[in-house]
Amino acid sequence: MRKKIVAGNWKMNTTFQEGIDLAIEINNLVVEKAHKEVIVVVAPPFTHISEVNKAVDNDRIFVAGQNCATENSGAYTGEVSAEMLWSAGADFVILGHSERRSYYGETNEKLKVKVTKALEFNLTPIYCVGEVLEEREANKHFEVIKEQIESVLFDLAEADFEKVVIAYEPVWAIGTGKTASPEQAQEIHKYIRTLLTSKFGDAAKKTSILYGGSCKPSNAKELFANADVDGGLIGGAALSANDFLAIINAF
Ligand code: PGA
Repeated sequence: MRKKIVAGNWKMNTTFQEGIDLAIEINNLVVEKAHKEVIVVVAPPFTHISEVNKAVDNDRIFVAGQNCATENSGAYTGEVSAEMLWSAGADFVILGHSERRSYYGETNEKLKVKVTKALEFNLTPIYCVGEVLEEREANKHFEVIKEQIESVLFDLAEADFEKVVIAYEPVWAIGTGKTASPEQAQEIHKYIRTLLTSKFGDAAKKTSILYGGSCKPSNAKELFANADVDGGLIGGAALSANDFLAIINAF
């Protein structure tokens, strides 16, 4: 069975203390009230990872980095390696988020290396794909997503591929309040699964494909009800413990 996953991407928000307080609030709600079959992940800024990991019930909440380096260690000022994340207690890492792609020049080529590094150090990559508005308007969204998936994941061994989680995040829906309709989300998720099946066969049936982009308590249920939507990567709404819980419980 595919795993249901709801991951909160905090982006560059919260001071250290605010982050710990938020983690504790989320933890208390999740431990008490969240549907047990949903895997819950929080991705705070790097500086908070170790303490957030200590503040939560590690059987119930997993911690993620929001990025990792292409290198293991060395003279790469400002970078954080997959091994460092793992050693601070992270179990997941978000890779290829559209903000990383557009503001920090992350290419499919670099992301291919990052996915490999994450897997090498026992982190589950949450690999993000998605088209920008102009690409959708030009009817190029399938092509863009195909390239993002094939160039980054298709050289993985099957055993490694099985560990990867994918997030479809239409860039035009991120932080804009515009959500993809449930039909639009399902169409792309199904397309991604078909693509993965063409390469990895039945293993693709087990891949969790999350939706991201203005997902909130009011629309999570109709998004998660789709056959190929296995959860969400949540930005803004993940900064409110109550909204985050409501999204987890939208399954
Ligand atoms: P949003 O962000 O929920 O605020 O649209 C989603 C994301 O960027 O992962």
